[in-house]
Amino acid sequence: MFSLKDKTAVITGGGSGIGKAISLLFAKQGATVHIIELNEESAAQTVAEINTYGTAFSYACDVSQQQQVLAVFQKIKKIDILVNNAGIAHIGKAHTTEETDFDSVYQVNVKGAYNCLYAALPLMQANGGGAILNTASIASLVGISDRFAYSMSKGAIFSMSMSVARDYIGDHIRCNSISPARIHTPFVDGFIAKNYPDNQEEIFDKLSKSQPIGRMGKPEEVAALALYLCSDEAGFITGCDYPIDGGFIKL
Ligand code: NAD
Repeated sequence: MFSLKDKTAVITGGGSGIGKAISLLFAKQGATVHIIELNEESAAQTVAEINTYGTAFSYACDVSQQQQVLAVFQKIKKIDILVNNAGIAHIGKAHTTEETDFDSVYQVNVKGAYNCLYAALPLMQANGGGAILNTASIASLVGISDRFAYSMSKGAIFSMSMSVARDYIGDHIRCNSISPARIHTPFVDGFIAKNYPDNQEEIFDKLSKSQPIGRMGKPEEVAALALYLCSDEAGFITGCDYPIDGGFIKL
């Protein structure tokens, strides 16, 4: 079950957190993994871990820059799976979000995903099909308070995924999104360290308890869902969003 043998997977942001867990698991299931990362060192670390049991390559690339993205995809050529995972966060309400911050969240989270879709879709069409997974967030479903730009960007990912699913269903390309609640990654640790330097443990505890299930999710739990959705076993699933949220949305 869930074998990715002979599949080529492109994963953005594979140097850290959820993207790293997805990269490690996809490679374990037999995929050749290509990691697109802004942080060259962390990507090289993931590749080194994978190369002890599988095959991986990394590319230093800013997903918000279309020319950089196109140059990477030209090297990869054949793609079965694309995971648009790279993303950045921002705190602020609409009237406290500066234009430069709004633009950078948009550029990375929205335009970055578009750039990879733009480059990957013709390759998937030529390949006879493929599976795309976009990382949204519960922010796209409920618009988290004080995360104006971030919620906007993840809402765009949610609807972008539906649009792609509709447009490419005839090409045997499936497209879904996942909407995690808080997952314990460097993204969360960095957020706490930056915004609450004096009471990090207390905030970590508070954030964990704010999840109905009483803890944050693990990157490996998100990777398991990603594996299913990108595998052939999920061949009947497209145009869907899957919350992975410890009960956040419904309970
Ligand atoms: P992370 O910060 O641990 O990892 C993100 C990776 O993306 C980093 O390695 C970073 O270098 C890379 N990246 C950032 N900007 C980039 C760019 N312009 N080009 C290429 N790479 C870039 O974050 P994470 O927690 O693993 O989050 C991964 C995804 O999951 C993000 O899209 C995030 O919005 C989403 N998400 C995370 C959580 C959470 O609680 N951790 C919840 C919901 C959604």
